[in-house]
Amino acid sequence: MNKKIIIAIDGFSSTGKSTIAKQLAKKLNYIYVDTGAMYRAVTLFAMQKNYINHQFFNKEALINDLSSVELSFKFNAELGFAEMYLNGINVEKEIRSLAVSKLVSKIAEVSEVRKKLVASQQEMGRDKGIVMDGRDIGTVVFPEAELKLFMTASADKRATRRYKELLDRGDDVSFNDILFNVQERDRIDSTRKDSPLIKADDAIEIDNSDMGLNEQFERILSLVDKKINE
Ligand code: C5P
Repeated sequence: MNKKIIIAIDGFSSTGKSTIAKQLAKKLNYIYVDTGAMYRAVTLFAMQKNYINHQFFNKEALINDLSSVELSFKFNAELGFAEMYLNGINVEKEIRSLAVSKLVSKIAEVSEVRKKLVASQQEMGRDKGIVMDGRDIGTVVFPEAELKLFMTASADKRATRRYKELLDRGDDVSFNDILFNVQERDRIDSTRKDSPLIKADDAIEIDNSDMGLNEQFERILSLVDKKINE
């Protein structure tokens, strides 16, 4: 029997979680939810409101204003995936900037933010048939997910991928800045009190430092096949 499942993909920054998640969603005709985009959009909101910058964070002001953050995903047929909207405005480009990456882990430590986002993520997965990637999907959002993956790769490989992505879109960034940011985010994400980034006991670890995209896709697809035919 072919059943709809929840696929939870967690792991360190820039391990290609969204790449594999998009591939799987397309192949299986599932919904794909990039939860990092949601934390990034809240960060952009906090930056726009001057609640946070590189040396200052007015956490209380953000918490008090969280009810005015409205997030939604809208499917872009041309791109083949959903884009992030903050209060009705497409923020897909801004949320991927290094400026947002530098502050997002601070925002993601705030329990009130997590509570709001986790509730809407659980709502999106109510009918299953979903691939969701992030840091706490297999541990907190969907502890009962049928398939949990935990992605890793060397810091150098990850920074190289992110660096290339940002250069390709025309951003003026340095490799060392990116490497530092990737490691610093992993450190904060793994050591925070609320929902730290950890591998769920029943997650399957995939180290893709030396794995091509096709090889990774085939491998993960066979894990999915097993689960949906169980
Ligand atoms: O996945 P991405 O790198 O875009 O995530 C950006 C940041 O959002 C992470 O470094 C982390 O601080 C936060 N995040 C989180 N929980 C999630 C997804 C992202 O704390 N489920």
